[in-house]
Amino acid sequence: MTPTQCPLCGAQSLVPHEGTYKMYPPQNIPGGPLTVPAAQWETCTACGEEILPAALLAELETLRIERLGYLRPDQIRAVRERAGLTQTEMAVFVGVGEKTYCRWEAGRSLQNLSSDNLIRLADRVPEVFAQLTAQRDPGRQAVIDAYLDGLAADKGGSDLAMAAHGAELDATLAAQLRERLQALASQRSEP
Ligand SMILES: [Zn+2]
Repeated sequence: MTPTQCPLCGAQSLVPHEGTYKMYPPQNIPGGPLTVPAAQWETCTACGEEILPAALLAELETLRIERLGYLRPDQIRAVRERAGLTQTEMAVFVGVGEKTYCRWEAGRSLQNLSSDNLIRLADRVPEVFAQLTAQRDPGRQAVIDAYLDGLAADKGGSDLAMAAHGAELDATLAAQLRERLQALASQRSEP
């Protein structure tokens, strides 16, 4: 194959590579190199630069997000779909602009840690969605009550759903939320 022109130095010295691609991330990302098997990229034999195609860059970004312990864009979307929310409703729930939220799902920007925690928590404890919505919009209480009654019926009576009936975060629910947060925290600290 004839070498092609390097976009950085202009030399006709770009050669294709195929195999396992390893990227050594910054030191604040633990766990050694990010590895993509069966990858394709190009290297310039003149200036030494590597030219990575968009697909490989996307795979590396996904690995980086996972390594940092954040939800991937497809995981955020899955949480929202499990909750039956639109992107607009999810943005309101998390407390960010709709454009910002859509960028997370599209993988164009990374959510901050507090948003990541809230989304994980709400996924583990679906009543959190209802609870927070009810606190901000008392007019929806009837809808919320119906939803929670349904949950309680499905699960043969969830204590958490019962606790969420009050418009305020009562002591029982608060204690269970703390437990969930601690469980999440210990899960995250495992290697
Ligand atoms: Zn070059």
